[in-house]
Formats: sequence, structure tokens, C-alpha cells
Amino acid sequence: MRISLLGPPGAGKGTQAARAAARFGLAHLSTGAIFREEIGRGTPLGREIEGIVEAGLLVADETVDRVVFSRIGGPGGFVLDGYPRNIAQARSLDAFLADSVPIDGAVFLDVSEGEVLRRLGDRYTCPSCGPVRAPGGACPSCGRALERRADDEPEVIRRRFQEYHRVTGPLLSYYGPRLARIDGDAGVEEVWSRLEQAVMPWA
Ligand SMILES: [Zn+2]
Repeated sequence: MRISLLGPPGAGKGTQAARAAARFGLAHLSTGAIFREEIGRGTPLGREIEGIVEAGLLVADETVDRVVFSRIGGPGGFVLDGYPRNIAQARSLDAFLADSVPIDGAVFLDVSEGEVLRRLGDRYTCPSCGPVRAPGGACPSCGRALERRADDEPEVIRRRFQEYHRVTGPLLSYYGPRLARIDGDAGVEEVWSRLEQAVMPWA
């Protein structure tokens, strides 16, 4: 099985991709995780993208394509998490796989703006401990006052959500009959059960 999970920030792509990987024996390829790992190891790629990722900017399509393609050259199954994020990347992916095993399809975790705001609204940062999930106020671990990262402000979350849909709308059309759309507003277990059913024809 070769699939991609699509969905806005807060849709639970990482969690669901990990479950799909375990259930169907797939490689879980998260572009975010790969980038963080490369930056952490100080590789040439890591040094190239470090400033971009830190500034919250998007890594160029050619670079993302190169990184993903270097990991899907073999015959094995995979679940992509965070890729493709636009129609140009989707076309590149299809072209790259044209001579091997094509992608079966994409699953769109359709989460409402209200649900994303609810899920991401409790993200704060402790100056000592880093990101925490807490209702604001004091850090549950060390008691220091929590701060809100600019990225986690509701206005910013709302803007990212709308930007995601602007870019992803055409991507959903591109996948057409290869797209499975899942209501992602439910809890983790319910969403997983829907996802498992949706991808079963590709297993
Ligand atoms: Zn703390």
C-alpha cells in the first residue's frame, strides 16, 4: 500500500499515519520529522533548510521532492505524512513513481476550523520545559509562567487553516477518484476506524 495522508495542522495526521504504518507494515515518512532529524544531525540538507524551518517558512518544492524521493526508491509500501502539500509536488510524485509502483491514493482528514482551534488552542510554551499542552497560566511541571508562541495564537491558527485549504483544494481535485475523504472531527479511535476502512481496498 502506498498512500498519503492530507489534512490541515491539528488534523492528527502524525498519529493516524503512525497507526496505518503499524497496521499495514508501511514506512511512515513524515517530512516534518525528516527535516527535524536532518537539522539535528547537522547534515548538509539540515544546514540548508535550518533557517527556513526555524522562520516557519516552507521548504522549496524541489528540496522536499528530493528528500522524499530519496526514501521511496524501493518497492516497499509507505504512508506519506505532510507530502505532497500542493499540486506541483503531487505531479512530481506521480512522475517519479511512473516507472515503479504508483501511489494508491490519498486520504483527506477533513477537520473543521472550530475543531482545529479547539485542539491547538491549549498549546503554550514554558521557558524551561518547552511546548506543553495546558490551559495557560503556570507550567504543570515547573510552575513557571507559560507563554503563547505567535504560531499558536488563534488568529494565526485560523490563517494557517485557511491557507491550507486554499493550497489543498486543487490537490483534492487532482486526486479525484484516488481520494478518500474522512470526517476527522471525531476522536482518535473513531477517525482511525474510518481511515482503516477507507484504505482497506488498497491493502
Ligand atoms: Zn516548565
